[in-house]
Amino acid sequence: MPIDESGLKAMAEELVGRVMADKASDDDLALVKQQLGRFPRGMVAVGARCVCGRPLAVVTRPVLPDGTPFPTTCYLTSPEATKAVSRVEADGSMRHYTDLVQNDETIHAQYERAHRLYLAFRHELAERLGDSEEHIAGTSAGGMPVRVKCLHALVAQTLVMGEGANPIGDMVMERIADEFAPNVCRCTTSLD
Ligand SMILES: [Zn+2]
Repeated sequence: MPIDESGLKAMAEELVGRVMADKASDDDLALVKQQLGRFPRGMVAVGARCVCGRPLAVVTRPVLPDGTPFPTTCYLTSPEATKAVSRVEADGSMRHYTDLVQNDETIHAQYERAHRLYLAFRHELAERLGDSEEHIAGTSAGGMPVRVKCLHALVAQTLVMGEGANPIGDMVMERIADEFAPNVCRCTTSLD
């Protein structure tokens, strides 16, 4: 499956435009701070929301305010999602997923495309924010494009960019659907 670079660029522009139009409110920042247990440094916007409106994943700028390069552009913040994904990681599925991306021709191509889309998304973000990509050029997240190292990063991409953006993210979402899904609110974080 050839990768259509101009198609990816158009998709990245559209995604970044949508994400940046959804400005994080003070409540969003306070919720994300509670979810992570720390202030979300370099957070640009909420990348995905639960049906209730609470943030599930955030988009982080390529360079943090203190100058640290930050390749994990899509970052999972939902504690419910994080817990469900950690369970999948702990049950030994990583080897299975890595085997798929290395040996299944279709999934291999989709995973390579997910990597390119991730880079195109961050490039668009870097251009709009005036951030340098010097230290993270070619680096995406989660082990892409050849391994599966962090399912949280892959699920975050699926949440921010939608179904079809990352084949492994899609598979994990399907697997954890009984515990976590963006259209079923199971949020426990509150501002009270
Ligand atoms: Zn919710």
